[in-house]
Amino acid sequence: MNKLIIIKYGELTTKKGNIKFFIKTLKKNIDNALESLNYRIEYDNGRMYIFAPDLELVEKRLNYIFGIHEIITGYEFGTIEFDTIKENLKSLVLDSKIESFKVVTKRSYKNYPFTSMEISSALGGVVLKNCPGSTVDVHNPKTTINIEIRSNKSYIYFESKKGLHGYPVGVAGKGLLMLSGGIDSPVAGYLSMKRGIRLEAVYFESPPHTSDQAKKKVESLARILSNYSGYIKLHIVHFTDIQEGILKNVPHEYLITIMRRMMYRISERIALKNNCKILINGESIGQVASQTLDSMNVINSVVNIPVIRPVACFDKLEIIDISKKIEAYETSILPYEDCCTIFVPDHPVINPKKDLCDEYENSWDWKTLVDNAVKTEQVIKITSKDNKFSSLL
Ligand code: ATP
Ligand code: MG
Repeated sequence: MNKLIIIKYGELTTKKGNIKFFIKTLKKNIDNALESLNYRIEYDNGRMYIFAPDLELVEKRLNYIFGIHEIITGYEFGTIEFDTIKENLKSLVLDSKIESFKVVTKRSYKNYPFTSMEISSALGGVVLKNCPGSTVDVHNPKTTINIEIRSNKSYIYFESKKGLHGYPVGVAGKGLLMLSGGIDSPVAGYLSMKRGIRLEAVYFESPPHTSDQAKKKVESLARILSNYSGYIKLHIVHFTDIQEGILKNVPHEYLITIMRRMMYRISERIALKNNCKILINGESIGQVASQTLDSMNVINSVVNIPVIRPVACFDKLEIIDISKKIEAYETSILPYEDCCTIFVPDHPVINPKKDLCDEYENSWDWKTLVDNAVKTEQVIKITSKDNKFSSLL
């Protein structure tokens, strides 16, 4: 009898044509997360089976992997011989206090001499006989005893835990996350990874107006996100010249609108250079002046690449809940300024006009500055290895 972890893929199994690619990607992501541990994986189209001396540690790491529907700790027997299954079940339940229960049997081996009903009923009898006080309750049991019979092996498990769901990171291709030091953009990054997008991230810094601490904070947030994907490539763009140019040449109420148009332009260029198919950001409708529908329209109009906004329709409190869940919140609320907060005008325009933006931009040579910003970007590869996650290594 071997103790093991069984993984159910859930939503993956509906992707018929792509299933092999999905499972292979999931396996690669799990291998990456379990690197340095002693473990072995077997898998088929329906399940993954992980054997390891320290299953608790394996389970902790699996909690960060998208594409897993259920994480089950159970027991594998190298036989499907019915008497042996009964004996094994008896030894597993003897010491446990089982009250109401039901037995659920799944036979992927259809030539087995007993039906699922017959198996469940016989094994229910084993429990009733060996656990005084136990009763069968098929509708609302405290314990569900699951039996699975494959062609030459059988499995028993009692409880399963929810995985992160979603698709394995990487199956959807790459996207570029505009990552600031705030609360919203890390949450937007997390939600897009959940749909299988591998993230690269871009951060605009404006030293000396923004501090080194602000940059370190963004690196920490990227590291927190990398827990879910193994690594993230972070592009750091020197934005000072552009921002100072805007300040000199653009009326104050349009500062933010034009600044964001510049960020979008540079992000699009970096995305295309790095094979990222979309931009992702933490904009939320109506949250600030630059996130009204009019602003989004005028800002978005400078790029052709699709832009997704995973938190567009969430309330701030809903975003904060997710931020806390992914352990980004404490870092996001650190007080270091980013380039938006320093250049905030008193009355930013809430319904900017595209013609006016074009006019304000035509009055100075921002194109060279944008070229320079793209050329001089700094790239760091952030991995999950040297953060909190390392305590689990
Ligand atoms: P908050 O949680 O305070 O709203 P925020 O990061 O969402 O923080 P906003 O000013 O609302 O700040 O910016 C909207 C979006 O624009 C961000 O979610 C992020 O995707 C992008 N963004 C803003 N500033 C930067 C920056 N310095 N570098 C990269 N992306 C940025
Ligand atoms: Mg925001």
